[in-house]
Amino acid sequence: MIITKQKAYEAILASVKDYKKIFLVGCGDCATTCKTGGEEELAAMKEKLESSGKTVTGMVVPDVTCVASKVKLAIGKNRDALKNSEAVLILSCGLASASFKENDRFGLEIIPGCDTLFGSIMDAKGDFSERCSACGECIIDTTGGICPVTLCSKGILNGPCGGVKEGKCEVDPDRDCAWVLIYKDLKAKGKLDKFLKISRPKDYSKSGKPRSLRLKKTDK
Ligand code: SF4
Ligand code: SF4
Repeated sequence: MIITKQKAYEAILASVKDYKKIFLVGCGDCATTCKTGGEEELAAMKEKLESSGKTVTGMVVPDVTCVASKVKLAIGKNRDALKNSEAVLILSCGLASASFKENDRFGLEIIPGCDTLFGSIMDAKGDFSERCSACGECIIDTTGGICPVTLCSKGILNGPCGGVKEGKCEVDPDRDCAWVLIYKDLKAKGKLDKFLKISRPKDYSKSGKPRSLRLKKTDK
């Protein structure tokens, strides 16, 4: 799930200052779960923009805005309102903004209404936590299923560093040191030999940007 945070309303208003007619786009997937760009948040944004003198020409919450087929469907259903707009305020992640832009036939200005924070899991309490940084070369088979690239503040691959204190991270003493967690996990499984193995430096060419993947077509 991609975690987003709505920008402060003053910042959104500053971004749309040159436009009168604005169309709102959310996302029925992550942004709805994060409560940044679901039906409810779009309705609230419409009310605020209208009270600031803007005209909201329409709004839509595609099922999944980063999927071309879904965003095309939403654009098709709102053709007239979009034609009558100057800008689109995207209450979702940067992927939603990119997907809308690539499928937009009206040349509309894209205004991000949210900041995109990180990819996340949602725990049983409904809280979000970053657990993977999409580094392009997963190594957690050697670290007890715990990702040091993400959970260690320095992202070191052979830890812990000299700053660990009573099991806590020197960068953020409220958090457990990732490498202490890895040690405990491997010890419990009787696999401390993995802990002693020196990991090679990460191949950062695997996370060069922009990344893409073309799925091979299967023969019918
Ligand atoms: S090593 Fe960590 S950041 Fe890289 S793919 Fe695996 S979980 Fe994600
Ligand atoms: S204390 Fe642990 S988690 Fe913090 S930077 Fe050092 S090795 Fe990483």
